[in-house]
Amino acid sequence: TWGRVKQQLLESVGRNNYANWIEPLELKTLDNGVAVFSVPTSFMANWVSRNFSDTILLHLKAANESASRVEFKVEPHQAGASAPAPTAKPAVKSAEPAQAVAPSPEPRADELPGAPLDSRFTFDNFVVGKPNELAHAAARRVAEGGPVTFNPLFLYGGVGLGKTHLMHAIAHEIRERDPELRVLYLSAEQFMYRFVQALRDRQMIDFKQIFRSVDVLMVDDVQFIAGKDSTQEEFFHTFNALVDQNKQIIISADRAPGEIVGLEDRIKSRLQCGLVVDLHPTDYELRLGVLQTKAESYRNQYPGLKFADGVLEFLAHRISTNVRVLEGALMRLFAFASLVGREIDLDLTQECLADILKASERKVTVEEIQRKVSEHYAIRLSDMIGPKRVRSIARPRQVAMYLAKHMTTRSLPEIGRRFGGRDHTTVMHGVKRIEELKGTDSQIADDLEMLRRTLEA
Ligand code: ADP
Ligand code: MG
Repeated sequence: TWGRVKQQLLESVGRNNYANWIEPLELKTLDNGVAVFSVPTSFMANWVSRNFSDTILLHLKAANESASRVEFKVEPHQAGASAPAPTAKPAVKSAEPAQAVAPSPEPRADELPGAPLDSRFTFDNFVVGKPNELAHAAARRVAEGGPVTFNPLFLYGGVGLGKTHLMHAIAHEIRERDPELRVLYLSAEQFMYRFVQALRDRQMIDFKQIFRSVDVLMVDDVQFIAGKDSTQEEFFHTFNALVDQNKQIIISADRAPGEIVGLEDRIKSRLQCGLVVDLHPTDYELRLGVLQTKAESYRNQYPGLKFADGVLEFLAHRISTNVRVLEGALMRLFAFASLVGREIDLDLTQECLADILKASERKVTVEEIQRKVSEHYAIRLSDMIGPKRVRSIARPRQVAMYLAKHMTTRSLPEIGRRFGGRDHTTVMHGVKRIEELKGTDSQIADDLEMLRRTLEA
């Protein structure tokens, strides 16, 4: 069965990923729902488990295996396994003079210690909408080459909004346009890993030489090196050396440079020097666009499967802004539907995705409540959290406290803090007051009803 599952994995993760990460896996055992794979290195075990375990599990299940968990065991001397690039170089330093080969003066591109690129992460496969159009345009511009104008390009945004996708797309495009260019893509975590390894193996000269000889450096999730002092230091020097040579740098992070806690100020200001663009949370139209595109591409893989009207719209409406979650949901739907051989209608969707739908139920924040309540009563937001005690302000404030207590999971002290640092007893008093009024004052009852509905929408 593993052979068959592998075949499907090849289709679902793409050829590059497959060759790098799936092909070397060996299924050791499948007992009590736990599938144990052996992998050649711990780096690989981490990577595969982080990036592919869900997909592997899904396909195992689809192949009728009663698997509920996958585990990866490191077995270093596995014959025939093609280890991925980051581990290709033996970490052990040999003391024998015969082995001490001098580093070649011009390391070639295929020796760059980068992470593999996902072949599906191309510009063609990237759906553009309002929330990401700026980031997309900037990425395109940088990928086009020409004189380096935005340096660095700094892309930031929440999880699953397409940062990595855009970076890979840039790398694909540049490599395609000019295969001679040395494009190095890796995560900040891998940068640190390589750096620490170089320190340990006394290969810092090589390390510096490699990182300073690239034409394009892309570092993904740079927030990872916040607080890691010597890695930051090295990153800073690499960065400066490349900028001085007018080489393109592309960085991503989960937040704006200025907001990365634990990142040195000089690095923050360096990062802000180029073009900083953010990927906004997806909106309904973008989600629907992504779903339609992905559904179309799955159709070849699962011929004969049909979506009932309204299913994609339902998903776009109900599932979170994170595109990865959206994709996962769609993939599960396809796998499930092909298993039971039914059309994908709303019933099947709700049954199959119950957990995801539950997890992405809309969560209201205290801040949203404050905003909506201020609007409703036409008072200023600053008054809502300010000190004024006149009834026309105090009452809406109590309404907001009441809603915060009932619509969020925040505790009374936490709510108090968000209302300009009020004490939890003040919040409790406000909540009680509204509870009383609700029974006697029909205007308040109507207001609450209406506010609750708009906040839940
Ligand atoms: P991030 O790095 O921001 O966490 P990723 O780039 O890894 O997010 O994106 C998560 C998943 O969603 C990937 O499979 C990616 O292909 C997909 N994705 C994100 N944005 C888009 C988009 N606009 N169009 C198509 N696929 C997208
Ligand atoms: Mg990413």
